Amino acid sequence: MRIAIGGIEHETNTYATESMGTTSLDAFSQLRGEEMLAQRGMRTFVGGFIDGCDRDGHEIVPTLWAMAGPSGIIEADTYRTLKDDLLARLADEGPFDAVALSMHGAGVVEGIDDLEGDLSAAIRAVIGETPLVVPLDLHGNITPAMAEHIDVMLGVHEYPHIDCFERGVESIELLASIAAGEISPVTHVTQVPILLPTSTTDEEPAGRMRDLCLAAEAQPDVIDAAFFHGFPYTDVPATGTSLVVTTNGDRSAAKAVADSLATELWDSRETFVSESLLPDVAMEVALRAFESDGGPVVINDTADNPGGGTPGDGTHLLRAMLDAQIADSCFGFIFDPTVAALAHEAGVGTMIETELGGRHGGLHGEPVEVTAYVKTLTDGRFVYESPMLAGVPASFGQCARLVIGGDEKGKGGVDVIVTSRRSQTFDRVIFALHGIDVTTRSLIGLKGSQHFRAGFSDLATSIVTADSPGLTTLNVSVFDHARAAQPLWPIEAVQHWEPPV
Ligand SMILES: [Zn+2]
Repeated sequence: MRIAIGGIEHETNTYATESMGTTSLDAFSQLRGEEMLAQRGMRTFVGGFIDGCDRDGHEIVPTLWAMAGPSGIIEADTYRTLKDDLLARLADEGPFDAVALSMHGAGVVEGIDDLEGDLSAAIRAVIGETPLVVPLDLHGNITPAMAEHIDVMLGVHEYPHIDCFERGVESIELLASIAAGEISPVTHVTQVPILLPTSTTDEEPAGRMRDLCLAAEAQPDVIDAAFFHGFPYTDVPATGTSLVVTTNGDRSAAKAVADSLATELWDSRETFVSESLLPDVAMEVALRAFESDGGPVVINDTADNPGGGTPGDGTHLLRAMLDAQIADSCFGFIFDPTVAALAHEAGVGTMIETELGGRHGGLHGEPVEVTAYVKTLTDGRFVYESPMLAGVPASFGQCARLVIGGDEKGKGGVDVIVTSRRSQTFDRVIFALHGIDVTTRSLIGLKGSQHFRAGFSDLATSIVTADSPGLTTLNVSVFDHARAAQPLWPIEAVQHWEPPV
């Protein structure tokens, strides 16, 4: 078979637009044509597409894959440029036997609330009846418009998203079955009006919903059953959770299975509310855990998770760690290119005095005044090893390991890694790059909500989550969802819901 692969991916935090601006073309990494094949072997959707094609001897036609890290609303011109490029490639290089596209599900463009619905409609107009399968992120706000134009939407089952590669491979397998006439997929989307705080599938209750979906998939003629957590940090009509079920030709069965799973979710919604600990309280809990069970204890800054579109230079947790000055603790990392450049200018073995972080308004904390020893300088390049992103290269620009609160020789104090690019922390490799063996540490502070678990669960004695004001706080009720199509629990005390007939 001749299979086109490509995609446009973005998780849009509409609330981030005010403090961090819109998302422009230069924020997107763009791989065109053969460049996309560099994803071969990587644990991404596209890596899975390529592997699935290689396994079964399909001809790959790479088109355009564009992806930006989570951030504010996408500029209209940026989206138009990328969309036109993708459509032109699909038109020029067709016809195909099948098309596999990598999307997120929570993309928002100036003037377009549903990027994926808009894009899939436009693609359908170009490719006609050609089978189209799209794997989506578990945080997609899924719409019926998407289901109308896409033959199968595969949801990532795991959070951390360790199964993107597998969903990519599965996309190719399903396309082969559709093209051969073996299956005729039909999909039902049941949207559930819940604003879900970040919920890992490593634990209950999200793990239980994942298991129920997998059990549903084991039923004959159920092709896919996925629980989309939705992305609570965006204000569009479709924001919320959804259950998406695809069956082999049986529309009423797809609705029945989706509705049954949706009712399970609704009935268990209270169990998704998690405890929110302010950073200094979380530090106390982490310290007690360290004293009783040893280290390393991971303490994650969930409210400033750049993986959800935040600035990545928030200081609430960092300040608590610096105040506590726990021996052998480390923090990785904070985004501050100004301080990274200052450290590179000063050189290893020098002391610098500066303000660190807090450069995007006060919500995520004010800048911290520090006197720091410059311990290590790097170019921020490494390759991820986490099961979620193994093989994917990272490039954080000028980076520095500072020691804050120690003496002028860098003894004592807290190790803090400063980078020139914004990201959540996925695994230990960035620490190792800066000479830090995290397995020997007491406390490891990091920015992220759940994905870090894939890289740290096996080495942490325990994990403590710090919450605070921030664009990805667990306290989702602070965001006004003025544009929501229906009242969202728990912002509104919705008592009763049942699947629409
Ligand atoms: Zn996600």
